[in-house]
Amino acid sequence: MTVNASWVRAWLDKSATVIAENRTELIRLDREIGDGDHGENMDRGFQAAKAKVDDSTDEAVPANVLKLIASTLISTVGGAAGPLYGTAFLKASGAVAGKNELGPAEIVDLLTAARDGIVLRGKAELGDKTMIDAWTPAVDAASKAADAGATAGAVLEAAAQAAEDGAAATEPLVAHKGRASYLGERAVGHRDPGAQSTALILRVAADTAKE
Ligand code: ADP
Ligand code: MG
Ligand code: MG
Repeated sequence: MTVNASWVRAWLDKSATVIAENRTELIRLDREIGDGDHGENMDRGFQAAKAKVDDSTDEAVPANVLKLIASTLISTVGGAAGPLYGTAFLKASGAVAGKNELGPAEIVDLLTAARDGIVLRGKAELGDKTMIDAWTPAVDAASKAADAGATAGAVLEAAAQAAEDGAAATEPLVAHKGRASYLGERAVGHRDPGAQSTALILRVAADTAKE
């Protein structure tokens, strides 16, 4: 499908479903190296965002839908992930202001702004074993694909694959941000829950564009 406001709505809709399906898995991951609530936090936030967006009929451009998602996530997810994902969607909204249809360059702008927002807020660097370890490879892969002339769908696919690889690559790491950083070596061998939820959401973004 065209990457427009309907795509953002469908992305959110399916993300809410996929997060619900992975609620237990995200809880399990967060139980290993955090406080076990990431699946619950994300499920609550995405269901609330879906309800808000479903109720609003006047959000006809991507930026407005993204902004509504942002404010709902900020007020409902809680924990560390709420403000981080909320900021990501808010900055993503700003990056595509005034656009009806998102091409390869706009997708790169959206992803870059989202990632930069999370860094601004949480100060994590690549390799700190956080969601940034999924976001930054996604941004880099998207940018590389766009530079090589990929379509919007192919740019999203490159981002999704890189985020999945990035989430898997958090497993051997020691954490330097968030709750997992209190565990030292004990975090080694466990995947970061926020990197995993990012991989799930970006996978849905790519799959939605394919339909
Ligand atoms: P909490 O840790 O408050 O319970 P969640 O469990 O919902 O919040 O989210 C935890 C996730 O948030 C981590 O797996 C990690 O990916 C992400 N996170 C935590 N702190 C930071 C940070 N400073 N920068 C980026 N991501 C972070
Ligand atoms: Mg937690
Ligand atoms: Mg918590």
